[in-house]
Amino acid sequence: MDRLWAPWRMEYIKMERKNGCIFCEKPQENKDDKNFILYRGKTAFVILNIFPYNNGHLMVAPYEHIANLEELQDDTLLEISHLLQKMIIVLKKAMSPHGFNVGMNLGETAGAGIPGHLHWHIVPRWNGDTNFMPVISNTKVIVQSLENSYMTLKKFL
Ligand SMILES: [Zn+2]
Repeated sequence: MDRLWAPWRMEYIKMERKNGCIFCEKPQENKDDKNFILYRGKTAFVILNIFPYNNGHLMVAPYEHIANLEELQDDTLLEISHLLQKMIIVLKKAMSPHGFNVGMNLGETAGAGIPGHLHWHIVPRWNGDTNFMPVISNTKVIVQSLENSYMTLKKFL
């Protein structure tokens, strides 16, 4: 797999070190459109990554602040699996990607930006996207594309 070059992620990494846990805070704020929360399930929710590796980069996380996969309850694990499926269907319909990277980073060493709260990434991939992303790597374009992605995906949910 080619690595996507996403320099704005440095801002994100620095920000997360200072602040609390976005996966706990954002769902409690009750301004889902501002926070780019796309979908709320019973035990888990879907949120756009605001410093994405690619357009349509989503994260699925439980509401509960849990760091270890082995501590997750069965019903939460099942709902997260269903949400991953659901969001892949939605992304396929809305954005026609050529492929996906789906997965999680457990622990800081493994690259988790927020190691204390489990979350799954869904990154849609298009042929040639590793060449394309550096071109749009400024914050303004990213914010516009986030609002765009949010509205587009919301339509298909
Ligand atoms: Zn948390």
